[in-house]
Amino acid sequence: MAESVELPSRLAILPFRNKVLLPGAIIRIRCTSASSVKLVEQELWQKEEKGIIGVLPVRDAAETTSVGSALSPGMGTESGERSLKVRVSTSDSQKVDGINQQELIHWHKRGVAARALHLSRGVEKPSGRVTYIVVLEGLCRFSVQDLSARGTYYVARITPLDMTKCELDQAEQDPDLIALSRQFKATAMELISVLEQKQKTIGRTKALLETLPVHRLADIFVASFEISFEEQLSMLDSVDLKIRLSKAMELVDRHLQSIRVAEKITQKVEGQLSKSQKEFLLRQQMRAIKEELGDNDDDEDDVAALERKMQSAGMPPTVWKQAQRELRRLRKMQPQQPGYSSSRVYLELLADLPWQNASEERELDLRAAKERLDNDHYGLIKVKQRIIEYLAVRKLKPDARGPILCFVGPPGVGKTSLASSIAAALGRKFIRISLGGVKDEADIRGHRRTYIGSMPGRLIEGLKRVAVCNPVMLLDEVDKTGSDIRGDPASALLEVLDPEQNKTFNDHYLNVPFDLSKVIFVATANRIQPIPPPLLDRMEVIELPGYTPEEKLKIAMQHLIPRVLDQHGLSSEFLQIPEDMVKLIIQRYTREAGVRNMERNLAALARAAAVRVAEQEQSVPLSKGVHQMAAPLMDARLADGAEVDMEVIPIGVNNHEMPNAFKNTSPLIVDEAMLEKVLGPPKFDDREAAERVATPGVSVGLVWTSFGGEVQFVEAAAMVGKGDLHLTGQLGDVIKESAQIALTWVRARAADLKLAAAGEINLLEGRDIHIHFPAGAVPKDGPSAGVTLVTSLVSLFSQQKVRADTAMTGEMTLRGMVLPVGGIKDKVGLPYMLSWDLFLMLIFKTIYAVVMKL
Ligand code: ADP
Repeated sequence: MAESVELPSRLAILPFRNKVLLPGAIIRIRCTSASSVKLVEQELWQKEEKGIIGVLPVRDAAETTSVGSALSPGMGTESGERSLKVRVSTSDSQKVDGINQQELIHWHKRGVAARALHLSRGVEKPSGRVTYIVVLEGLCRFSVQDLSARGTYYVARITPLDMTKCELDQAEQDPDLIALSRQFKATAMELISVLEQKQKTIGRTKALLETLPVHRLADIFVASFEISFEEQLSMLDSVDLKIRLSKAMELVDRHLQSIRVAEKITQKVEGQLSKSQKEFLLRQQMRAIKEELGDNDDDEDDVAALERKMQSAGMPPTVWKQAQRELRRLRKMQPQQPGYSSSRVYLELLADLPWQNASEERELDLRAAKERLDNDHYGLIKVKQRIIEYLAVRKLKPDARGPILCFVGPPGVGKTSLASSIAAALGRKFIRISLGGVKDEADIRGHRRTYIGSMPGRLIEGLKRVAVCNPVMLLDEVDKTGSDIRGDPASALLEVLDPEQNKTFNDHYLNVPFDLSKVIFVATANRIQPIPPPLLDRMEVIELPGYTPEEKLKIAMQHLIPRVLDQHGLSSEFLQIPEDMVKLIIQRYTREAGVRNMERNLAALARAAAVRVAEQEQSVPLSKGVHQMAAPLMDARLADGAEVDMEVIPIGVNNHEMPNAFKNTSPLIVDEAMLEKVLGPPKFDDREAAERVATPGVSVGLVWTSFGGEVQFVEAAAMVGKGDLHLTGQLGDVIKESAQIALTWVRARAADLKLAAAGEINLLEGRDIHIHFPAGAVPKDGPSAGVTLVTSLVSLFSQQKVRADTAMTGEMTLRGMVLPVGGIKDKVGLPYMLSWDLFLMLIFKTIYAVVMKL
């Protein structure tokens, strides 16, 4: 450390461009300009002992705006290490015409004497130019009296500015200075302790603080700050100790503040970031601790578990690549991050999908399949035959691209259960995808993952649920899909059902192709018309028209009742539903083409019976011989597993009664009273029909709806008028024309039908006819009301009532021909309890009667 030195009166001057060397500071410079090289060579390099030179700040011409203390003349420039390279050429050129440059160089009046601590010489290649690297230590301030040239560099006559030792001693007695020194030291100490937290090497500076006199410390501290040239100059100019100290203190304080502000900002930013980071860190630490304890078996890394699951999912290579990419993304995320859970759910889906997992298809036994279909379904002979053909083709050519079966018919006719029987016959899993009301294409194809709350389509979701890639998939209610602005689900279904395309079915959510070619598709619909033609083209329609009451009865007796009893934990020993009662259910409680409502009604009876049986179980009348043992056993049942003393059962006469101990002594037989009690008053009653046809002019017709058959009353009335025909009940053109035809035919045959005496042929003489089809709000059309209209009019004119238990359908021509009728079975979702034969007989009898006079 520099102690007070004797300065010579003249010093060779090294100019420092825009930079100040303060006493106590150490600086390393590279001298390249000819003048500074010469100076170093003559004043430092060639001298035996360590030489002293003067370092004088100079200011660029451009920066001389407010410098009053600039010296002139001067020449040659040198700069600190940083600007040296840039300035070399300038300084070299200045050397040549140095005097011309005089006005550009402004020397500062005060400088600092500096001692070379280290010198090294180098020769630049290939120019051979000599350069020096000099390490200088600032010693003390001086002021310049005048400057004179010595060769290419300058020499200045100087006067030292620093106080002598005794002056210093004296000044140190000044209480102001003492206070100022103390204050400075305190601020410096504060700075040091702040810095100490950041860098450990600050210890040396701390030692300096204790050893060095305070006026030196001020220079050393300020020299280490990055401050402006102006501030450096003003520090250099502060010869007075008090001024120097207060300036230094101001700078130290400023530095301290700026560190604090910076610290505050980082803390704020860290605070915002760190919550999630902290959690992440803690999780990492927890994992490390668990690993250390060997405690991580039960709570293994679930991402690793997911990866294992994905590995065993058997994905195709392209999908696996995509999955790995996503997994890498997931690994980089923290669980709290927004995309984490969506990414995870996606990967879970990839892992869960049955890429290869297939249920083993057993060798198809056609006979067994037929048996199964027969066991599950009554009737439907043609349908079952077609299914067997379908299965036979599959057996011979498993990868045959046969048509997709589409069962069409009203609800409850067994479409779903047929499809599930196909699955059972093939030994495959069965899955039902409901398409009713699907209007959005995304329901089939899924939403892209960019949407919030996106999910896969119903097909992929279904496959995930069923977990095999070769199930029988029932596309239920394909006729109920509709298209709107959200796309056309039917077109997506086209892709699904096309064997060429469904090998690489693209679900938007999944975003990788999935092979649907192993899935067996079966579709169902209530009606054919709404199915888009291209979709219909891919399917083979099998119609299930609905059941006649006879068939319904058989289905109920053979299939539904045993199944319903079984589902309710009952058997025929507890509940019996006689045929008559089933007939009544069909007649009074259901009006449908299928058997679903009937099944529901049967289930209601079974529930009621189950309650009664459960109640009776506790108070069941037991035969004498088993009374003794029955009570504790009963208790045991009620005690729900509590320990009970068992009595030894004597082997005696009554032993054979044992198995009946808990049986209801007599089964519950459903009767009409029970029907009413459980199912309520009859919903449909033939009495209603009888009442409605109680007046002449009302007849009963049959109509077809998508839910099966309906009866349609036709009411005709005559009134005084001009012979007009009035039609009401939202009728279409065809049905209006049928009415016209019917009236004409009846009028033409008035005499034959004995509706009028031979003389008076005009039935409409002085009267109008009004025909009404209730219910008035439902639109009606079609030609098949012909015979009903004729019957109604004949009844009106003949004043004879029509039979209440007969309904009719059929188009009639003007000549009285009844055209062949279709859809009779569909129409017979009847409330009437007729046998099929009786029904047909009645129909023909009616028509015959109409045609061949009543
Ligand atoms: P759909 O799908 O046509 O609406 P389901 O297949 O759900 O009707 O049938 C309704 C109920 O009727 C099922 O329990 C089914 O087993 C039964 N069912 C329908 N037709 C028959 C039949 N021919 N034989 C036996 N049960 C039948």
